[in-house]
Amino acid sequence: MKTVIVTGSSTGIGKAVALHLSSEYNVVVNAKTDVEGGRRTAQEINERDRSAIFVQADLSMESGVSQLFDATHTAFGPAHALINNAGATRGEKFGSWSEAHWHDMLTTNLVSCALMSQAFVPQLGHQDGTIVNIASIRGIERYSRIGAAAYSAAKAGVINLTCAMARELAPQITINAISPGFVETAYIERADSSMVEDWRKAMPIERFIDPHEIAEAVAFLMSQRAMTGANVVIDGGFSMTSN
Ligand code: NAD
Repeated sequence: MKTVIVTGSSTGIGKAVALHLSSEYNVVVNAKTDVEGGRRTAQEINERDRSAIFVQADLSMESGVSQLFDATHTAFGPAHALINNAGATRGEKFGSWSEAHWHDMLTTNLVSCALMSQAFVPQLGHQDGTIVNIASIRGIERYSRIGAAAYSAAKAGVINLTCAMARELAPQITINAISPGFVETAYIERADSSMVEDWRKAMPIERFIDPHEIAEAVAFLMSQRAMTGANVVIDGGFSMTSN
């Protein structure tokens, strides 16, 4: 059986992706600090008679990336697919920006993708591989969020990194991005309720996106050898109505 690494899969989109892919892949579940959630995701997969391990590792640094690949290799051998989903948003208004904030947003959302991809490629040997990067509509020109410039810039970087790597690594490896709009995860639960209502009203499909809908799109991209360097927007039409 092939193996997939799903970064940041203790909750939300990553968890839905890990569960969805477990019917066809051994799954490496990961989180930075959420050990309980990460173990739960792996346990849910193992209880379905599929195979998963949980590895706690901070992927914004090379030591965490090595730790994750070492554990993957020990449990399953080389990984065949990589889903760079780990990410975090923290808003910081202009004027309050600090080096620490920019460093945090860029390493968490962008550098982690680059370091994970770089470690993934050589361990494939001559086999074909596939990478899916979870970006955001906030990374697309004109849809950045006021108060979250560093996050928007990092996700724009993820979209462009996807294209740059797709060109560099074709035809052996396909690399595509998904840019979700509002997905029903803890991110929505944490947000101010009046803001959430405004977002919901701006959704032409009149609801937020279910994490399983992102998981299905990830599986689709993984199955397509003719698609590489694409950025697939899944936002229920939000970006048509908002600018
Ligand atoms: P979430 O907060 O539920 O999960 C984030 C996961 O990333 C957690 O498992 C966390 O441990 C992990 N993580 C964070 N930093 C990490 C690090 N340095 N190393 C390893 N793991 C790390 O978030 P979510 O809403 O499911 O979002 C998942 C991805 O989708 C993120 O990249 C996010 O930016 C993106 N996204 C989410 C939405 C949304 O509406 N929820 C919209 C657009 C894009």
